[in-house]
Amino acid sequence: MHLSLLALDLGPGDEVITTPFTFCSTAHVIEHVGARPIFADVDPVSMQIDPNEVERRITSRTKAILPVHYGGHPCEIETIADIASSRRLSVVEDAAHAVGAAVRERPIGSISTLTCFSFYATKNITTGEGGMVTTNDAALSERLQRLRLHGISRDAWKRYRQGGSWYYEVAEPGFKANLTDFQAALGLSQLTKEPRMRARRKEIAQSYSAAFTKIADLVEIVVPSDSVRPAWHLYPLRLHLEALTIDRATFITELEARNIGTSVHFIPLHLQPHFQSAYGHSLGDFPNSEAAYERIISLPIYPDMTHDDVGYVIDSVTDIATASAR
Ligand SMILES: *Cc1c(COP(=O)(O)O)cnc(C)c1O
Repeated sequence: MHLSLLALDLGPGDEVITTPFTFCSTAHVIEHVGARPIFADVDPVSMQIDPNEVERRITSRTKAILPVHYGGHPCEIETIADIASSRRLSVVEDAAHAVGAAVRERPIGSISTLTCFSFYATKNITTGEGGMVTTNDAALSERLQRLRLHGISRDAWKRYRQGGSWYYEVAEPGFKANLTDFQAALGLSQLTKEPRMRARRKEIAQSYSAAFTKIADLVEIVVPSDSVRPAWHLYPLRLHLEALTIDRATFITELEARNIGTSVHFIPLHLQPHFQSAYGHSLGDFPNSEAAYERIISLPIYPDMTHDDVGYVIDSVTDIATASAR
């Protein structure tokens, strides 16, 4: 994402619109090129960046939109693409959760100018660390490859390797941001397993959703629209706190007591000390993100999860919720 923003020549004075309901690195990369992250709140139901909010935040300084496919559910990327093209803005997608996801049969990675995937250990496919950028723009591709390897121009690099020549040209200050060959080998084998692993994630999600629909007065599930194919990176469950006698923290503790690990995705960025002190954000700025944050839990979901594991999580969540129903 950092290299993508650099390849677009973004820098000081520029603004990039993104969601506060994401991991901090989504906003950090904007800061690392010297631009300013501008947050647009999420839709209260989908928890995805709200295109209306994006539009409302566009100024003369806006250069790009950096949407996130939260949880591996595609955001409203086609609407965002329309907004971007009418305002002549670039779109860089944070697809860290969205390997294998699609919108109306269009795979994530084939829609925007630049799409960034993460292969960190917790993601749907992994190379330990690292990631991938997809683009169909030859000039941007060239620039990205130069930036990721010391700013050495690819043509000169090729000459150096093929002809055995010692000559190469440094075109700009680049980075050492390449995937190692070891990681690439792992990534290729992961890629072949991706459809199978995604199918298993989908099964688990469907089991969860079928079960939790039965206690819909106590918990809320995410329902994908028929036109999208989610990657099911996360399974976020929102508690109806007003219907429960316990809060989210207690719910997590109760699950922990049953040996079920959960997490919270995400603590909205505008509530973090850095974004408060750097940009003057405070509680109340993005109410939909805050409302989601207060009642959300990410349940375990991974391809090796057994049928019994899934059943145990379903029974535990159902027990805790019904036992603490008002
Ligand atoms: C994991 C994650 C990232 C960062 O990916 P890395 O490969 O770990 O740098 C960015 N955005 C989101 C939404 C993520 O979940």
